Amino acid sequence: CGIIGHVGDGNALETLLTGLENLEYRGYDSAGVAIQNGSGIDVEKRSGKVEELKEAIDDPLEGDVGIGHTRWSTHGPPTDENAHPHTDGTEDVAVVHNGIIENYATLKEWLQAKGHEFTSDTDTEVIPHLIQYYLDSGLDNEAAFRKAVEDLEGSYAVTAMLSDEHVLYAARKGSPLVVGVEDDEFFLASDVPAFLEYTDSVVYLEDGDVVVVDESGVEFTDLDGNPIAREPETVEWDP
Ligand code: GLU
Repeated sequence: CGIIGHVGDGNALETLLTGLENLEYRGYDSAGVAIQNGSGIDVEKRSGKVEELKEAIDDPLEGDVGIGHTRWSTHGPPTDENAHPHTDGTEDVAVVHNGIIENYATLKEWLQAKGHEFTSDTDTEVIPHLIQYYLDSGLDNEAAFRKAVEDLEGSYAVTAMLSDEHVLYAARKGSPLVVGVEDDEFFLASDVPAFLEYTDSVVYLEDGDVVVVDESGVEFTDLDGNPIAREPETVEWDP
């Protein structure tokens, strides 16, 4: 339902929680965040309101790079396990997703046959497992993300974070996704209000776009990796 991501100097947690609160108007049943901690990824997620998520975080998660999500369940009830971000069971990969992966059952069976263990009822959980599968087969982070996205049928705005790089990977098809740019700070979101207090410089992604966001900038490409031109525009937004 709602996606927020942050790369750059400064603590990600506050930006993510503010972003999730800004997206509350969309309606949701669960909320969660994932933040890089230097050696792995910490995840806090639960069913209920962002307020309840905040109360549950008693040890503030520290890190500059993170992703957050408000979930509107389509596959699996609103439980803590089904809330996003999803991982592959390790601290290596975390993913948030809006939309529906139509072929998730086939992908899940295939991954389970390869030994992957699932802990949620969601369609989304196949994505971190696919990324891990391709990493294990020797691909680098970006290639593994692209291969995973290529396997997906259905609709998605997806953002992935890996523990060993200050980078967010994102792709969209049939679900909105925008990039916010502010000097050396970058935001990813399902909708502009998520980060409007930080920047009004926005790039609207189109279906088939894949972006790689790190502290030095944003790389816009198509699914095959060819560079594409996307320019930021200044949005005026009357809340
Ligand atoms: N299909 C996913 C789920 O049920 C994502 C739902 C959403 O867009 O929030 O978890």
